[in-house]
Amino acid sequence: MITILKILGINLLFIIVVLALINYYVTPYLNLFSNLQSGIKKAYKGDFTHQFVSKVGGDARNVVEQMNSLFRKMQETFGDIKYNLATFIPQGCISSNDPLYEAKTIISELSDIYKFKKTIELDGSKDEVYGRIIDILKLKYHVGHFAFFEVNNVTTERKLIYTTEEKPMCFEKTNKNALECRAFRTGSVTISTEFPNLCKACLGTNDNYVCIPFTINHDISLTVSMTSEKIEEVELMKKNISSIRHYLEAAKPVIESQILMERLRDTSLRDGMTGLYNRRFLEEIIDKIMSHANRQKETYAVLMLDVDFFKMVNDTYGHDIGDKVIVALAKVLKNSIREADLAIRYGGEEFVVLLGNATDEGVMQVAAKIHSEFAKLSFDVGTGEPLKKTISIGIAKFPTDGDTIWKCIKYADTALYEAKNSGRNKIVEFKPEMFKSGEEF
Ligand code: GH3
Ligand code: MG
Ligand code: MG
Repeated sequence: MITILKILGINLLFIIVVLALINYYVTPYLNLFSNLQSGIKKAYKGDFTHQFVSKVGGDARNVVEQMNSLFRKMQETFGDIKYNLATFIPQGCISSNDPLYEAKTIISELSDIYKFKKTIELDGSKDEVYGRIIDILKLKYHVGHFAFFEVNNVTTERKLIYTTEEKPMCFEKTNKNALECRAFRTGSVTISTEFPNLCKACLGTNDNYVCIPFTINHDISLTVSMTSEKIEEVELMKKNISSIRHYLEAAKPVIESQILMERLRDTSLRDGMTGLYNRRFLEEIIDKIMSHANRQKETYAVLMLDVDFFKMVNDTYGHDIGDKVIVALAKVLKNSIREADLAIRYGGEEFVVLLGNATDEGVMQVAAKIHSEFAKLSFDVGTGEPLKKTISIGIAKFPTDGDTIWKCIKYADTALYEAKNSGRNKIVEFKPEMFKSGEEF
């Protein structure tokens, strides 16, 4: 019995010693693992601030020190990345405690904006760029109800570029005077949930709105007006404001250069002295007009005008007076035609007028008006006796007289020649017999 008890006692002692040894040597490792685990868990959430500690020496201490220096480095690097990325996207499109997630989101946002910018740089017109901004609002931000406006900062006129709605969002007068729009007037985002009846331009529907103003340059601004009945959609819009502004910011230089290009194009296609379109413009536009006319079965009338005995004005009174006569005729043309019609300075004191959807009487009325309005003018030539001039006009119609507008311009010129030959100061309509044989195209 005593021997058995002794053996049991020794075994018990042995077990106690082994357990004590295990406790002494293994527990610090267990603690270290649990410490490592909680540090890695935090790191997984983007927090690299954890300090690893170890009561174990040797290799374990080395590992802990290396882990600590790795985490310090990670924390510093992600902080730097976040800080540097924030300089590209100033407002920070996302706010979270996870620098990795933040960096990933900012990089994906930057990459989307970069692709957007590369695409719009190759777009051919301002309207194409506007179309892409509209697509971003629809496809990326899933805005269901919105309107996109262009505002002339100088005249404060507002033009609706696009809307998803059948009914207008703002009072009609807002388009005549954009200062009625709070977002444009204050230059700050207007959110209806912040204050009741915030914008007086808004047609009092139950919808909430978020309106973002954006200045392109001294002349042009944009306004994005988004509406929704659902408060959660408005919250999403509010969240996306800075992101939408990043796209507008990326589009800004491209829109500016498109505006400049449009202006340059406009000046190269216009005659500087009269402000009318020039012959080059006619050459560029004529194919478009022809295909439009053919599609719509639209008729056109071509008026060719020329001042009678104009050389005499230059010779007798000088070029300055001659120029005044040309500018005055251009003004008469502008005032006698509709907005959709075209007046072109075709040559020195020769003009072409293109009248769309022209009836026979309508054409004659316009020609007679131009003819008589110009005849009424008196030019002061400094001799006491004012100078009065007349014009001759030749008319041809498309497609009645010719199957292309170019032919009709030629026929109108033939009719003008007839007017000059038969005494000047008159309006002559083209007739096929005016062509001598062999002269036909
Ligand atoms: P007609 O009645 O047959 O038309 O006689 P005309 O003297 O008017 O002859 P024509 O139409 O050929 O005259 C064209 C003149 O217009 C010649 C040119 O010196 C003058 N001219 C062309 N461009 C300008 C311009 O920009 N300013 C001025 N002052 N004269 C110009
Ligand atoms: Mg002439
Ligand atoms: Mg002439």
